[in-house]
Amino acid sequence: MNQLPESNSVDLRGQGKSLYPCGRPLLSFPEPLKLVILGATGSIGLQTLKIVRANPERLQVVAVSCLGRWTELIQELDLLATACPGCVPPLVAICDPAARKEASQSGKFGARLLGEGASALVEAVETPEDVHVVVNGVVGAAGLAPTLSAARRGVRIALANKESLVVGGDLVTREVFDHGAEILPVDSEHSAMAQCLSGRTESEIHKLILTASGGPFRQTGAAELEKVNLVQVLNHPTWNMGPKITVDSATLMNKGLEIIEAHFLFCVPYERIDVVVHPGSYIHSLVEFVDGALLAQLGTPDMKLPIQYAISGEKHWTLPGSRLDLLEIGQLLFDKPDIERFPCLELARQAGRTGGSATIALNGANEVAVAALLEEKIRYADIPRIIEEVLSSQPSHSVGSLQEALAFDTQARRVADALVARISTTAR
Ligand code: MG
Repeated sequence: MNQLPESNSVDLRGQGKSLYPCGRPLLSFPEPLKLVILGATGSIGLQTLKIVRANPERLQVVAVSCLGRWTELIQELDLLATACPGCVPPLVAICDPAARKEASQSGKFGARLLGEGASALVEAVETPEDVHVVVNGVVGAAGLAPTLSAARRGVRIALANKESLVVGGDLVTREVFDHGAEILPVDSEHSAMAQCLSGRTESEIHKLILTASGGPFRQTGAAELEKVNLVQVLNHPTWNMGPKITVDSATLMNKGLEIIEAHFLFCVPYERIDVVVHPGSYIHSLVEFVDGALLAQLGTPDMKLPIQYAISGEKHWTLPGSRLDLLEIGQLLFDKPDIERFPCLELARQAGRTGGSATIALNGANEVAVAALLEEKIRYADIPRIIEEVLSSQPSHSVGSLQEALAFDTQARRVADALVARISTTAR
């Protein structure tokens, strides 16, 4: 890969400032906050809707999107209407064309139904008259376009879609700074760091420390990793999440993507972002300050906390649920990540350092490989091999627009698809 200078990965219009509003005032909106929820039937979306139902005076949904599960969406919208009887029903984007057609024929949504395809996500952000917060819970690179639209609206983006920054970090940075938007992380590790950084400035940060549960294969030997099956891959020890991120957690690619996400969010160079394996996931991440002070955020593995913290504009609103009992935990364990057994971690860090289109290739190859694993076309151990081969076949270029980013994404996916086809044919 061609090495790009490090300055290329931080857009100059961001003036080397963190994308996360570190030490800067947050946007302020009147309540109820008007929300767009992208990926409403996914894990993040459903939990966001629960938070809205628990806070009808504070939060109001103006638009939702889903990929294809429209019948499930109807049930959710019914629950929402019960929680807030006087509220106007939200606009609805159903991206999958066949599902949208069915939904339209059902007559359940009437004129509230927006267009179809990837542009429906952008429509969901752009159509409502008033929007304060866009919750982006879309899975994969498809989340980038609506993140850019939300940035252009100058609103708060509660970002769960880490691919927005992995694929379009420079583009998102430029739009956020040009339009006065803000990004508050929903990813639990980055939310933990944001909570540690409350009231601090970037110049006080020395190092970011991301914790990793280690996934289901923390103690699995290299030879055994060659043989693990899909059920084992999907058996995450601490967090209950969607299938894509669960696979990414098993390969540690999730942590790799989170390194890149942290780099763009907090404007910290890659050599000052560490990963520590912390089985149990009690500490969600840490920040080391220049004076050596180490701040951590702890809690139960409940995504509703980071979602609510981001939506609310970093408020600790009441949240029912189980609490972390320190005496029950007794001790906290830490370990060094094994990059020999989990090569995805280093592949991601390298792609981040290379910058430009390298992280797009990394992400595209990973999405293709994960989908192939979920369809049982390839094995777990094939994932890093596919990504490495795609990365070494794609020279890195700087990325100037969404169209360019999507073109690099398509190119990487094409190479990855061919590799999957080769592996699955050989396996048979
Ligand atoms: Mg995370």
